[in-house]
Amino acid sequence: MTQSIIIIGGGIAGLAAGCYGQMNGYSTRIFELHDKPGGLCTAWKRKGYTFDGCIHWLVGSRLGSGTNQIWQELGAAQGRTIVDHEEFTRIEGEGGKALIVYTDVDRLEAHMKELAPEDEKLIEQFCGAIRRLSRFAGGMGGSSGASGPATVLKGLLGAASVLPLFVRYRRTTTQDFAGRFRNPFLREAFGTLFDLPDFPLVGMLFTMAWLNNRDAGYPIGGSLEFSRAIERRYLDLGGEIHYGCRVEAILVEEEGGEARAVGVRLSGGSERRADTVISAADGHATIFDMLGGRFVDDTIRATYDELPIFAPIVQVSLGVDRDLSGEPHSVSLPLATPITVGETEHRRMGFRHFCYDPTMAPPGKSAITVMLEASYDYWKELAEDRERYDAEKQQIALSVIGRLDDRFPGLEGQVEAVDVATPLTYERYTGNWQGSMEGWLLTTKTISSMFGRGMRKTLPGLANFHMAGQWVQPGGGLPTAAMSGRGAIQVICKREGREFTSSTL
Ligand SMILES: Cc1cc2nc3c(=O)[nH]c(=O)nc-3n(C[C@H](O)[C@H](O)[C@H](O)COP(=O)(O)OP(=O)(O)OC[C@H]3O[C@@H](n4cnc5c(N)ncnc54)[C@H](O)[C@@H]3O)c2cc1C
Repeated sequence: MTQSIIIIGGGIAGLAAGCYGQMNGYSTRIFELHDKPGGLCTAWKRKGYTFDGCIHWLVGSRLGSGTNQIWQELGAAQGRTIVDHEEFTRIEGEGGKALIVYTDVDRLEAHMKELAPEDEKLIEQFCGAIRRLSRFAGGMGGSSGASGPATVLKGLLGAASVLPLFVRYRRTTTQDFAGRFRNPFLREAFGTLFDLPDFPLVGMLFTMAWLNNRDAGYPIGGSLEFSRAIERRYLDLGGEIHYGCRVEAILVEEEGGEARAVGVRLSGGSERRADTVISAADGHATIFDMLGGRFVDDTIRATYDELPIFAPIVQVSLGVDRDLSGEPHSVSLPLATPITVGETEHRRMGFRHFCYDPTMAPPGKSAITVMLEASYDYWKELAEDRERYDAEKQQIALSVIGRLDDRFPGLEGQVEAVDVATPLTYERYTGNWQGSMEGWLLTTKTISSMFGRGMRKTLPGLANFHMAGQWVQPGGGLPTAAMSGRGAIQVICKREGREFTSSTL
């Protein structure tokens, strides 16, 4: 019978597992390598500016939505002001053209038709699909754990209403769909949105539906405040969190021919024991380092050998003595002179400012972030020569500042703070494999697991062990992380014949 649980990692998945563990009467301890909670859901301060490293949109931000229930339970939603942007983003083209991706589907449809009247039918098809998914996503409550015949029936009816849409688009990527527009600008601009390899159109449609439902807003205070709220909830529930503790190995003992996880060994060599271990840390490190690759089968090997991951990024963050609040908050710019990061040439650059959140910069000033896809191997090699590594970071920052200065003349002289995070920064602070920002990529092949049972969350031949977080569900993201932490505790309760319970503050 499990009484004590050790959780590896204090990201959103680990904190969620801890909260639900405490709610269900378990005694839990989290061991986290960093000195703060949140993992990837974080932010950092430089010269009076806060640079946010995560939340652009938070699914479940709307009071009463299915996922919001989880944020309520985790104490992350209470008292939080949410900003629902009118524009998701804006894709600019040559000659002043812009695709404004309005979050409201009616406004989006009218705008797209104005841009490309020749594509009226396809635009109606796209926006019709968003409307249909909005109705479905608005009624989704299964994740909150609510059950009963009425809920089940509602869920089934909802699923039936969108099934034809899944069947129709199950193999369509955003790039395939973009290619169907006749208008050359719309074709290019649409293809820029979610420009990821093999990214399923359905994934994009869901995001647009959540935005249309005003259920994917931005919480004022940003990512670290969000994580800290869950940390507070965990501590209030009686949980223990130990920072600066890297787990090196998961302790395994054999009894009656069965291998069981019995605790962890920390980097200093000390051991901590518990009845059950949940790893909410990086999947690759958990399976191949902490457990030495002893509990794998062909499926796990194939997953880690073949499944694509979200490419790591370089994030350039700037603090500027300039008020950008009158500018669109998220823009993708075409670049007359591309920016090269390693072997990757960027012909576009997306930037965001956070002027809608007064906690991010002093009054009248702005925090800006730019994310550029990067290669882990390139930065890994570069890091062997510290001077070259630093010089490359500086060069990228200068390129980004230069391109922003083209858009906002004079900005170059207003820069007060500069920070560059590389894939190695993500790896160092969060332990994520190859610095990946969100785990497994959502593709037309992996999307089914997003709505189905997901990936396996235990390992063959190892009892009393579970995994949670972005490495057990393609697509990653904060709701996924929280749900998987919750799911791990549900499974433990079920195994022991306990009824799973949850509560709000
Ligand atoms: C730039 C960026 C933007 C994003 N935007 C969004 C967004 O808008 N909306 C959204 O929903 N999601 C977004 N995400 C994704 C989201 O942040 C992640 O998917 C989610 O936070 C993953 O949570 P996790 O708990 O599974 O993993 P992690 O956050 O990686 O947590 C794992 C934790 O384990 C710890 N750890 C690792 N190894 C060890 C060890 N050996 N011992 C002890 N501790 C260890 C790490 O330090 C970390 O705290 C974004 C991510 C990035 C990087």
